[in-house]
Amino acid sequence: MKVTEHIKNAGGKTLFSFEIIPPKKGNSIQELYNNIDPLMEFNPPFIDVTTSREEYVYIEKNGLLDRKITRMRPGTVGICAAIKHKYDVDTVPHVLCGGFTKEETEYLLVDCHYLGIENVMALRGDAMSHQKYFEASNGGHTYAKGLVEQIQNLNQGKYLHDVIEANNKADFCIGVAGYPEKHIEAPSLKTDLKRLKEKVDAGADYVVTQMFFDNQRFFEFVNAAKEIGIDVPIIPGIKPVAVKRHLQLLPQVFKIDLPEDLISAVEKCKTNKDVRQVGIEWCIQQSKELLAAGVPVLHYYSMGKSSNIQAIAEAVF
Ligand code: FAD
Repeated sequence: MKVTEHIKNAGGKTLFSFEIIPPKKGNSIQELYNNIDPLMEFNPPFIDVTTSREEYVYIEKNGLLDRKITRMRPGTVGICAAIKHKYDVDTVPHVLCGGFTKEETEYLLVDCHYLGIENVMALRGDAMSHQKYFEASNGGHTYAKGLVEQIQNLNQGKYLHDVIEANNKADFCIGVAGYPEKHIEAPSLKTDLKRLKEKVDAGADYVVTQMFFDNQRFFEFVNAAKEIGIDVPIIPGIKPVAVKRHLQLLPQVFKIDLPEDLISAVEKCKTNKDVRQVGIEWCIQQSKELLAAGVPVLHYYSMGKSSNIQAIAEAVF
């Protein structure tokens, strides 16, 4: 079922969902199942699975540097199919512009369609570690909006080099990313919101936000989005702080602010066990306020670890 149908069927009740990352190359999928199992009691209607793009690794070979392409966490579509089958839950593969040609994207979407996957998150991806700015790959999309358009074309039976029969069209529900604290590259939040509106106008059905730790930023973002005519569901994505290093890591990687109260509570912690508890309590408060505000879904970034999400869900749902 489509994410938007799940939201509609819930009739105003806030749903629980979460995002997982594929296991590292070579690891077993059992590791993922062990993390998903405890969260299934909260009845997630859908689970997101992230995608990593390829990275270059330089290896010395006979005194020369050899460039090798690697993808640390492959298998997003296969993992989506496995989870869907094992738990009878909808899965949402993240589809990236970066690292993929339009043809490769089309093959991936055709696979999703065959596997009965009805939702996809359309994302641009980031620049690779050796690049200063994002570069599209070999005729791939420069912005997520182009990817939304490609998926919409498939929904209408328009393939890149072919037109298929009307009764064999894809019918993907498309999610896109939104940034309550603006995307790092956007010159202003207002401009970033206009870009988000362009993705929605191109056919995106719902928005999932980047993580935030101050609900006010989310509420202001939703209001500003509504003011410019973004009328699709906006799903808050949230994550509990879990280790002291998150104080530096989360702002650095996700370009977000941490509230002063959270920072000082974490700084006072003697061990990471204490930090984890602070993170859980903060996230419970955030979740309860968002729930009271009637958000359609509370979407948790699990980063492969479910025990703190489980503690939060037990207190909230
Ligand atoms: P876009 O919507 O293309 O926007 C990128 C930037 O370009 C923004 O600053 C926007 O304002 C600007 N822009 C858009 N259109 C134009 C235009 N026409 N002209 C000029 N500027 C423009 N990354 C992964 O690698 N894998 C994942 O699985 C993944 N999952 C994510 C899930 C969520 C919910 C979120 C919020 C992010 C996720 N990301 C993931 C990170 C994402 O790929 C990065 O944040 C990336 O830098 C931007 O992606 P986007 O889809 O928002 O890009």
